[in-house]
Amino acid sequence: MSFNRTPDGRALMGGVPLAEIIAVSGTPAYVYDVDGIARATADLVHAFKNAPRVVAYAVKANTAGTIVRAVSGAGGGADVVSGGELQVALGSGMPPERIVMSGVAKQNWEIDLGISSSIRAIQIESVEEIGRVAARARALSQCAKISIRLNPSVQIDSHAHIATGHDEAKFGVLRSDLPAALAAIAVANSGAEPTLSLVGISTHVGSMLTTPGPYLESARVVTSVARELRAKGTRLDFVDFGGGFAIDYGDGRVDPPSAFAEAALDLLEREGLSDLTLIVEPGRALVAPFGVLLAKVLQTKQSGERRWLMIDAGMNDLIRPALYAARHRIEPIEREPGESVWQVVGPVCESADDFGLHAIGDEPPSAVAIRDAGAYGFTMASEYNGRALPAEVFVSGGRIQKIAPTLGSEAWVAARLRA
Ligand code: PLP
Repeated sequence: MSFNRTPDGRALMGGVPLAEIIAVSGTPAYVYDVDGIARATADLVHAFKNAPRVVAYAVKANTAGTIVRAVSGAGGGADVVSGGELQVALGSGMPPERIVMSGVAKQNWEIDLGISSSIRAIQIESVEEIGRVAARARALSQCAKISIRLNPSVQIDSHAHIATGHDEAKFGVLRSDLPAALAAIAVANSGAEPTLSLVGISTHVGSMLTTPGPYLESARVVTSVARELRAKGTRLDFVDFGGGFAIDYGDGRVDPPSAFAEAALDLLEREGLSDLTLIVEPGRALVAPFGVLLAKVLQTKQSGERRWLMIDAGMNDLIRPALYAARHRIEPIEREPGESVWQVVGPVCESADDFGLHAIGDEPPSAVAIRDAGAYGFTMASEYNGRALPAEVFVSGGRIQKIAPTLGSEAWVAARLRA
């Protein structure tokens, strides 16, 4: 277990007491168990046994080089959604054949980087994008490997902001638009040299899938299109069923990533597609449980029946509660949580800067850990309210491996004065 406690109740991350970490990193600070992330990646890679597969970690969940290198070292690849993320993946040693690039509106330089670095495929998200990628391939005198990301028209039971595979979403190509996409590819290839090679069919239906049901529903759209294309002679290299494997934020059981892997392999077997490489794109499941956000308690406030615990981490550091109504467990770091509850809030001047009601105990602690914050935490952090980005601490082998310090508020003030 990544986050656990000593018998006398002191909280640890990757075996290191959080109180010791705070003393060197200050707060707010994200702390990551790098070995836990490597283990989770290796477990998923091995869950596919000997099947051809790529575990393409959705780098958007956490872009820290130490983490992307750990995923790469454990056999993982990357799903990137920008040129910046692609540069981090390549710079972290990820082999290009383990990288796919999604994104609904890619810039020309990002498409160019995808083509010239020979990644596994650029995932096409609209019919309109096909001509753009073909034009860049022509300009580079190369043939671009592409896959079509299908919008499977599947509704999932998740927060609206993390559902991506329904037909009002901006993502992917609707099945009804597939003939137009294939026609656009044919036009792009009608010159002397082919500019596009259709190598894959993909999807990503959304996040926080607690069971493989909706995953399989969207995967079946992919396999049926893959079979159709093969029957017409297209030489596919892979199918990509996307990510979205949920984690347990403390409010319920979820199926582990290996259950999704088994269900996906089963489906490929039944559809006669086992020879294709299977790509999966988990983000949160590989990193969220292996990160906490540390915060000091600044003060309390009591007003009538209400009482607040005011901490020095806010929605600018972790926006998930404000953006997705997400709930993260919050616990004291120097003792077990007690029964009495506090409304935990940050210092940001917004009503949404509220982490919810938490059982903390009668006495206010000096510091707390916000759990399961390894995904979509630092990567979504901002400097809103003139607050510097938090520090990041990487733990490995039972000790602090590295600290990426906050740039601090002086650097923020200087940058704003220069603007
Ligand atoms: N793939 C794509 C295209 C995504 O947009 C996302 C997340 O938004 C993911 C994979 C990863 O999702 P999750 O972190 O829920 O596994």
